[in-house]
Amino acid sequence: MANEKIDIASIWSTRQVLVSGSRKMAIGKTCRPPSRNDKKGKTMPKREWPLRFVCSHEGCNESVTYRYETRRDLVGSYEMKNFRNGRWKCLRHSKPDRVLSSENLETRCELINEQKEHGRYFGSQGFVSGPGFLVYAADLPAGTKLIVTARIELPTPASEGEQK
Ligand SMILES: [Zn+2]
Repeated sequence: MANEKIDIASIWSTRQVLVSGSRKMAIGKTCRPPSRNDKKGKTMPKREWPLRFVCSHEGCNESVTYRYETRRDLVGSYEMKNFRNGRWKCLRHSKPDRVLSSENLETRCELINEQKEHGRYFGSQGFVSGPGFLVYAADLPAGTKLIVTARIELPTPASEGEQK
């Protein structure tokens, strides 16, 4: 890996911004409990613990920020365990075969309606929807195939000219 993708610096700098933005609190000190002199209805701004990753694909700058209520949540999170050290990739680079483009004009996905203990499901979902369709697994017999295709048509050079 060329560089460290997990942005620890931003976690800490954000924390310091949050802390220093609160009234009369020194950087690095934890929140004090509200005192009796605090005006009623005035609540402390809610703290949060952000965790930011940048896509590890060469040259890609896509990023994602997860937010946690406590530092403990952040440290023990699924994202911290699975995405740090350059293991996070954006959708474009983690599922390239699903991204429609001039090189990938069509995608296809098949799900089979399965009878499970508490009902019928396409995968883990009893209801599936997307642009132009919706389906309830319960309305259909087990074994029914749901085939979802998406196809793009690029404009021809002639129709591109007509738009101008
Ligand atoms: Zn990417």
